[in-house]
Amino acid sequence: MTQKIMAINAGSSSLKFQLFAMPQEQVLAKGLIERIGHQDAQFTFAYHQQQRRRSLPVADHAQAVQCVLEALLEHGVIQRIEEISAVGHRVAHGGEAFNDSALIDDQALSEIETLGELAPLHNPVNAMGIRAFLTALPHAKAVGVFDTAYHQTMSPDHFLYALPYRYYQEMGIRRYGFHGTSHKYVAQTCADLLGKPLCSLRIISCHLGNGASLCAIQQGRSVNTSMGFTPLAGVAMGTRSGDIDPAILPFVAEKEKRTPSELNQLINSQSGLLGLSGVSNDYRDVEQAASQGNEQARLALAVFANRIRDFIGSYLVQMGGLDVLIFTGGIGENSRSARRSICARLQELGISLDDQRNEANQTFIQQDNASVRIAVINTNEELMIARDVMRVAI
Ligand code: ADP
Repeated sequence: MTQKIMAINAGSSSLKFQLFAMPQEQVLAKGLIERIGHQDAQFTFAYHQQQRRRSLPVADHAQAVQCVLEALLEHGVIQRIEEISAVGHRVAHGGEAFNDSALIDDQALSEIETLGELAPLHNPVNAMGIRAFLTALPHAKAVGVFDTAYHQTMSPDHFLYALPYRYYQEMGIRRYGFHGTSHKYVAQTCADLLGKPLCSLRIISCHLGNGASLCAIQQGRSVNTSMGFTPLAGVAMGTRSGDIDPAILPFVAEKEKRTPSELNQLINSQSGLLGLSGVSNDYRDVEQAASQGNEQARLALAVFANRIRDFIGSYLVQMGGLDVLIFTGGIGENSRSARRSICARLQELGISLDDQRNEANQTFIQQDNASVRIAVINTNEELMIARDVMRVAI
């Protein structure tokens, strides 16, 4: 029987949604409310190849949920709200409490709120979204889909930091990793396209968007990933530094008399492509500046590619080889030049990009004789959420 499943991604001032008919995986409607908390919130609503956009006052997430439900009824996407049988919520941090998507009861919800300590910008907002839907749709099951859960299969020798052990025991300081829903989705999609069981493939998935992370996948499980205790770690990103020598922070703090929160701002919002290039956090802008001869922009792109190559090499060693390299996220899916520079001079490792296939943005872009397949896969975290809701709640 067809189920109508909602996938929700709640941000501090936004609410993204997609309504699916499952198991057909058909999108019935999707949209976004931005500037929640303002008189001029923006509501974008798309259904049946039509798109509506309007400005309206939206006080909070509860009101945003009401707007979404009213729009679904008004445009005849549903006749009654009871038709929505379950709602899947993207949740940033599942800590060690959640190693898979989970049905949300009172205990799970309070666990998500407690984990707000590890993800203060995200978990409280995610919990707010869950509460808003529980109130508006009391009949519908709620499922939490955690960015960290997929990486809970990492072993301690990969997730521990070499800090005094008590920081792990007492404060939960360890590597968690993020983007798990995306890595899981593209790995499964790629295995399906190849017609091979996922568990037979050694995969490195490169999710390259504003945030970027790599994931090593063996026997269908995440065995390593580049983000860490927070989504700041790993490769350089739009505005995030990625890994740096941690001693830089106390050094700068003393030199410039900066507070911890200013340092946080520096490495989260003023670094990465933006900080290095001085141009923009947007890969396209930096590419354009580099092509016009801006040396700092060229260097920013080179650093971005180099860090990714470092992780590819490291994961290839960890897995004892590689079958598939996957590119996804806004940059991975679209930027031919990013893929070209990341794959440059890796032929010795069996990674040989075919320039024509890469330029044509084909799904598989390796040369015919290459031992490693290189795949470009569009990620779809919302669909993965809807699939998980079906698996966990229906
Ligand atoms: P988010 O992490 O916010 O979901 P996206 O996955 O949408 O971000 O990725 C955004 C990034 O993708 C930006 O840096 C943008 O410049 C880059 N991008 C999008 N389209 C292209 C393109 N055609 N060529 C190069 N980069 C692109």
